[in-house]
Amino acid sequence: MNVLSADFVTSATEPKGYPPPGEPEVAFCGRSNVGKSSCLNALAGRHSLARVSRTPGRTRLINFFDLRLAEQTRSGGRGREHALRLVDLPGYGYAAGPRSEKETWRDMIERFLVGRETLRALVVLVDGDLGPQESDAQMIAWGRTLPLKLFVVATKMDKLARTRRAQRVERIAAQLALPQEAVLGFSAKERFGVDDLWRRLVEAAEIRSVG
Ligand code: GDP
Repeated sequence: MNVLSADFVTSATEPKGYPPPGEPEVAFCGRSNVGKSSCLNALAGRHSLARVSRTPGRTRLINFFDLRLAEQTRSGGRGREHALRLVDLPGYGYAAGPRSEKETWRDMIERFLVGRETLRALVVLVDGDLGPQESDAQMIAWGRTLPLKLFVVATKMDKLARTRRAQRVERIAAQLALPQEAVLGFSAKERFGVDDLWRRLVEAAEIRSVG
């Protein structure tokens, strides 16, 4: 998949700040430090796409990015084009933070995930080296109740020997009671799993809601 363009749209905390619904959306969430910015940058093929979400103050906001993609034909030419919007949700796992902060975070995420008509898929990133944590399991259990495609991306897989990676993905799926195909191994460092994830996201984004 070739990324033709990747642009920051806006940041928001509540519905009145969201951009008007446009292209199909895929939201990304995970514990702080799980590798979400690195994953978004690897997908976009940009070093700085998610930098905007790192700037102080923006880490607790919902950040929207518009991307245009082109499939590559066998001969290396430009194939079908796709447009989709990536939505970077603020990281969770501020376990030590004040209760009110956690509730604000939860409200912000819930409002977006439950009410966004153009949202097609939710990607929950878990640390592939560390394995899923309690907060990941909670997020995923709740995410499964939503009418969205749910994917788990196991990050930082380069920390594991190649021979152990497939087995780790299987284990994570079992720990989270998910079908194996819902979990994808990924490494921003080695750019491992990037194309696989793109294919899954484009497929999920193109499923039009009916009725
Ligand atoms: P975020 O807080 O979820 O946005 O996480 P970042 O993308 O900023 O990454 C957090 C830390 O994990 C940084 O020190 C990164 O260098 C490291 N990291 C992110 N992705 C990978 C990866 O694929 N492999 C390895 N080994 N480290 C990674």
